[in-house]
Amino acid sequence: MNITETDNLFVANTYKRFPVELISGKGSVMKDTNGKEYIDMGSGIGVTAFGIADDEWKKAVTAQLGTLQHTSNLYYTEPCATLAKMLCERTGMKKVFFSNSGAESNECAIKVARKYAADKKGKEYSTIVTLKNSFHGRTITTLSATGQDKFHEHFNPLTEGFVYGDANDLQSVINLAQDNKTAAIMIECVQGEGGVIPMERDFIRGLYEFCNKEDILLVIDEVQTGNGRCGELYAYMNYGIKPDIVSTAKGLGGGLPLGATMLGEKAESVLGFGDHGSTFGGNPVCCAGAISIIERLDEKFLAEVKEKSEYIFNELNGTKGIKSVSGMGLMVGIETEKAASDVVAKCMENGVLCLTAKTKVRLLPALNIPMDVLKKAVEVIKNACAEEE
Ligand SMILES: *Cc1c(COP(=O)(O)O)cnc(C)c1O
Repeated sequence: MNITETDNLFVANTYKRFPVELISGKGSVMKDTNGKEYIDMGSGIGVTAFGIADDEWKKAVTAQLGTLQHTSNLYYTEPCATLAKMLCERTGMKKVFFSNSGAESNECAIKVARKYAADKKGKEYSTIVTLKNSFHGRTITTLSATGQDKFHEHFNPLTEGFVYGDANDLQSVINLAQDNKTAAIMIECVQGEGGVIPMERDFIRGLYEFCNKEDILLVIDEVQTGNGRCGELYAYMNYGIKPDIVSTAKGLGGGLPLGATMLGEKAESVLGFGDHGSTFGGNPVCCAGAISIIERLDEKFLAEVKEKSEYIFNELNGTKGIKSVSGMGLMVGIETEKAASDVVAKCMENGVLCLTAKTKVRLLPALNIPMDVLKKAVEVIKNACAEEE
């Protein structure tokens, strides 16, 4: 049996995989079992922030691997402490809870928000307002937070207390927050799985002001948008706001599972001993890798992310077969005339791996993708969009 046959027989059928067996890579180039090379424009859904087998990340991870790969959270370890300090210093947040995935980072955010509101206003203040078309994860509670019916089917009853406002419609969200006893409003700055839809400045600033006034916590889900993806360390920084809670994962670990929930002034002391925990959370190997990622996301590097973003937008906007381009930084959605899946298949045939999001082709390349590699990939994508059948 080859890899595909074995996988099809023994791995649960939750993923509709492409007929490609990837075995190795370096930077933004990946290789399959036939020796065919691909430019990776998806980076494992925004995870391999510095590409495959990045030297600095590998050095940090392997050094830690040979020193201490795990201990329980009953003890102190250096990488966990250092990473938390770095994140707080770079964001102005006060404390960090580490977990292993995006869904878990949101679970923590939800627990903190509910306890904050219960302590302060009473336990009936438990509603979390999220947005229609959002995505917050696959656990029962984060599914509940996700404002898309198709994810809810088959899994009822979901966790109670989530209501969904309209993205970019400030009044709709405020009305929901006022009509319910609300603990928090939780949003993505750019809806990723929902189709790469950026939130407008006035919308996010309006929510920020409303939350401040009403003492409702503003939770920003930066699982996909964070860690340099949108041209700033975190996407909320593009909006000039200060969230109460920021959750992140995906790119943070550079390819190892790591989630973080950053807690601002109001939220930092909400959880006490025993209120939350994670066996693997803050794993020293994952944190050592993350430190090597976060320390490189300085202003100069982020300026390059923005330049590459501009290049992609300029190249794709108004090109044959492309209706529109949306997104922020190196998180790009392309509305194509052809079906997105056809464009992705064509790109794959021609050696470029792309993603989809709803009806769009989605690009999440490694943040350090070299310009010449990016140019090649964009050429292939343009041709795939323009080509007549
Ligand atoms: C991917 C994603 C999640 C879920 O992350 P997992 O690591 O798969 O649990 C949550 N929120 C957003 C915005 C995401 O893009």
